[in-house]
Amino acid sequence: MRILLVEDDRELHRQVRTALENAGYTVDGAFDGEEGHFLGDTEPYDAVVLDLGLPIKDGLAVLKAWRQAGRTQPVLILTARDAWSEKVAGFDAGADDYVPKPFHMAELLARLRALIRRAAGHTTPVLECGRLAFDTRTGQALLDGVEVPLTAHESKILGYLMHHMDKTVSRTELTEHVYAQDFDRDSNTIEVFIGRLRKKLGEGFIRTQRGLGYRLTNPEEG
Ligand code: CA
Repeated sequence: MRILLVEDDRELHRQVRTALENAGYTVDGAFDGEEGHFLGDTEPYDAVVLDLGLPIKDGLAVLKAWRQAGRTQPVLILTARDAWSEKVAGFDAGADDYVPKPFHMAELLARLRALIRRAAGHTTPVLECGRLAFDTRTGQALLDGVEVPLTAHESKILGYLMHHMDKTVSRTELTEHVYAQDFDRDSNTIEVFIGRLRKKLGEGFIRTQRGLGYRLTNPEEG
C-alpha cells in the first residue's frame, strides 16, 4: 500500500513517515501544497495524509482540486485541535476522515487502515481468502491459522492482492502501489516476489492471468 504524506512541519513529517514505513507502507512525501497536489494528481495512492495548513497552496484547495478532477483516493486530513469549522470544511471538500493535532500515531495508523480497507470494500481488519488470512494491522499472513514468515516486500505485495482479491491486478498496478515514486522499478522483481509468495503459500492462491496480471483467489472455489 502506497501513501502520500503532505505535511510541511519537518519534524512531524519525519515522525509520521517513520511510523508509516514501520507499519509496512510505501511513502511519498511532499512539504507544500503544490507538490502534494501534483503527486496526488499524477500517482496512484491507496490513501493520503493531508495537512490543511500548507505553504503555497493550502490543504483544502488541494483536496478540492483533486475531487474536481475526479481523483477518489481516500484522504485523511490533519486539522488544528478544536477547529470544528476546519473539519466541516474538510469533509465538504471531500475528506474521508480527520485526526486533530496533536494525535497519537496509533490512532492515525488505525484510521488509515480502516480507510484503505473500506475503499477496497472490506469491513474487518483481517482479510480472508479460504485457508489464507492476512492481518492488515500487522502485515502477517496465516495459512490454516499458522503464520507464514514473509519479508517486508512480500507482505506489501500480498497485502495489496488480498485487499483486491478476486480481481485482476496488473503488474504495473502492483508496482505502482508497492514502490515509492523515486524507486528504481523493475517489473521483473514483482515476478520474483510472486514466485516466492507462491512457494510459501502453496500453488493456487495467486493465479497468473496471461497478459493481464495476477489474481488472488481461493483455490477451493476454483
Ligand atoms: Ca502545517
